[in-house]
Amino acid sequence: MHDDPRIETLAVHAGEQRPGPEGSVVYPIYQATVYSVEPDTAYDDMKYMRLNSTPSQVYLHGKLAALEGAEAAVATSSGMAAITTTLHTLLKAGDHLIVADVLYGGTHDFITERAEALGWSYTFVDAQRPETWAAAVTPRTRVIYVETIANPLMRVARMPEVVDFAREHGLTSVVDNTFAGPVNYRPIPAGFDVVVHSATKSLNGHSDLTAGVIAGGAELVERVRHILNLYGGSLDAHPGFLLARGLKTLALRVRAQNENARALAGFLADHPKVAEVNYAGLPSHVDHTHASRFLSGFGGMLSLRLTGGVDAAEALFDGLRLPYVAPSLGGVESLITRPALTSHAGMTAEARAASGITDDLIRLSCGVEAAEDLVADFENALRKV
Ligand SMILES: *Cc1c(COP(=O)(O)O)cnc(C)c1O
Repeated sequence: MHDDPRIETLAVHAGEQRPGPEGSVVYPIYQATVYSVEPDTAYDDMKYMRLNSTPSQVYLHGKLAALEGAEAAVATSSGMAAITTTLHTLLKAGDHLIVADVLYGGTHDFITERAEALGWSYTFVDAQRPETWAAAVTPRTRVIYVETIANPLMRVARMPEVVDFAREHGLTSVVDNTFAGPVNYRPIPAGFDVVVHSATKSLNGHSDLTAGVIAGGAELVERVRHILNLYGGSLDAHPGFLLARGLKTLALRVRAQNENARALAGFLADHPKVAEVNYAGLPSHVDHTHASRFLSGFGGMLSLRLTGGVDAAEALFDGLRLPYVAPSLGGVESLITRPALTSHAGMTAEARAASGITDDLIRLSCGVEAAEDLVADFENALRKV
């Protein structure tokens, strides 16, 4: 391999054994949960599936670390397992967390419902307004937590400012990079301490498994792995095999999703029946200028509102032939939802309105279909709206 291979090459070759076991080109599934031990093996080093130390898990971790540009990585049984295990590793009772005020629903609920019981305190901040963050720092602040691109208005956090702020105040910076992914942005080389992902989404990319990833420095990931071993949110070898297979085409899939979202956002922004399009790749998006400095692509997610409101949104869903009406994201098939009914249904109508998540907001996860076909599908469905 070239000294500094590109992500397309890493996706295929990083972490692979050459020759593989028995000469296999594909790393096999070691489905065994348990392995023979030497008498003085330390607990965390015993080969056992929950301890994240079996051959298939170690293989997957190497591949993930290479893709993230991190010293180490560990896979988890879900994105939420990655997030909660990371926070459990970094925070103890009495500690304080600064966290972006627009978050994935599960993360928001974990913090608001569980922090008090765990003895953690937290302050929500606007991830687009770095000048407001210092006021949130207390002597017990340990962590700043953001999402690269936040659902559903596709607001992009001030990532370089988060890195600088964390360094200045001695905090650990954590980012949920699920919406951007390592093809569009690699937080660890950019200076973040920890990156977490829901690998259920574009890392796997085929809507057929649930997994998470935590990546960062070797010492920190070792601490995370110890906590993961205790809490037990480990990833089994079989979904781990599927995830590694999905990762090999990550760059191809994400580039296609970027292109499809760009084409659809451009088409929709010019359509007379469309009131608003939220996609950071559009020059009209509030975060376009600053996001363009660090994102190499703007991802496959966009949201929109039609001039005809909720009725028009329902008519659009009825008229579309390609996207499935379903939540989640990042798969090869396009998916369309109304966040007020799915990802943000748990919020009150007032809280949703305050965050710009109106009842008629439509969210689209672009798959890898041909852009022309997606645009034609929307063109046709919008005629019936
Ligand atoms: C889906 C998602 C999660 C949670 O991931 P699971 O794999 O469902 O546990 C966390 N963060 C973001 C941004 C997500 O989209």
